Amino acid sequence: MREEKFKKEVFTLKKFFSIYCQNKHQNQSKIPYLIKYKDLELNFEISLCNECKELFEYAIQKLKECPNDPKPRCRKCKKPCYEKEKFKQMAKLMRYSGIKLGLSKITSKFRKKSL
Ligand SMILES: [Zn+2]
Repeated sequence: MREEKFKKEVFTLKKFFSIYCQNKHQNQSKIPYLIKYKDLELNFEISLCNECKELFEYAIQKLKECPNDPKPRCRKCKKPCYEKEKFKQMAKLMRYSGIKLGLSKITSKFRKKSL
């Protein structure tokens, strides 16, 4: 995939992981990352617990190795590269944070209208 796409995917993962972990878990620590992909270097920090950290790194690794271009949504991929257990964890996380994000968007729209 293109670097731009990769970057977008990484930052989406970052957002979803942060929301999930902060709502569900405790004992996060700040982890600095330097992720390299082709000509790209992504430098950021994310607060995660150990469990999420492991899954996050797994997800980044899988993303790097994704042979599909354009990358489909993992859920719709014909050849999912995730192990079953990890796939389940990931689906739960994405669903949870997706709902949270969706809800907060709706709320802020609603607020703007009523002001
Ligand atoms: Zn966590």
